Amino acid sequence: MRTPPSTPQPSLANRRRFLRTLGIAAAATTLGIAPSDRRAYAAALTKAQRDKLTPDEIVELMKKGNERFRLGKESPHDYLAQQRASAKGQYPAAVILSCIDSRAPAETIMDLGIGDCFNARVAGNVANDDILGSMEFACKIAGAKVVLVMGHTACGAIKGAIDKAELGNLTGLLAKIRPAVEATQYSGDRSAKNYAFVDAVARKNVELTITEIARRSPVLADLKTSGAVKIVGAMYNLETGLVEFFG
Ligand SMILES: [Zn+2]
Repeated sequence: MRTPPSTPQPSLANRRRFLRTLGIAAAATTLGIAPSDRRAYAAALTKAQRDKLTPDEIVELMKKGNERFRLGKESPHDYLAQQRASAKGQYPAAVILSCIDSRAPAETIMDLGIGDCFNARVAGNVANDDILGSMEFACKIAGAKVVLVMGHTACGAIKGAIDKAELGNLTGLLAKIRPAVEATQYSGDRSAKNYAFVDAVARKNVELTITEIARRSPVLADLKTSGAVKIVGAMYNLETGLVEFFG
């Protein structure tokens, strides 16, 4: 582990508990603490731990983290200790592309700690060349194994795209979401006032973004084909707190 000698012992105990829970020889920092354990969790993900995790296991850890969030039983993070433990190196398990919406902070809603994931945020969670470059760095250079594109319900960017809103640079951003509006199969009211339609477009937008990532990034497509990286989508429900994975 990269944690310094001064790392409190509880972190080690927590890690072992997590290993037992998952039944694998690796740990994922804050993701595996038993709800009853309220001791501060200090470990940051090490390279060896991250490298042993499979993409599916990482997705499972994020699901479990979201479950803890929804139950109000988040891991007792010791952020200062995590900061110190990860200062000399980072070995994140995933790269997340999510919306800037203040109500959808990926680390919080999946109970992740410092060093657990890369996080790119842009309104409407669309991929552009810079985002793709960031993902390529995260996976090919830094070793992340999951690319997660996460949309959310009642997304203002999606509503703006449906309404064809125009405002400065936002106009061009919303244009990137328009294909999802057009591609969404929906027979009812196709307006931004209809939240069912808005959420359907948000989901389609995630699906199209996933496809785009593999199509526009041969680097990530190769990693996906070899099984080294999994590209998945998710929708976060602002009302229920659930992160629903798909793809
Ligand atoms: Zn949004």
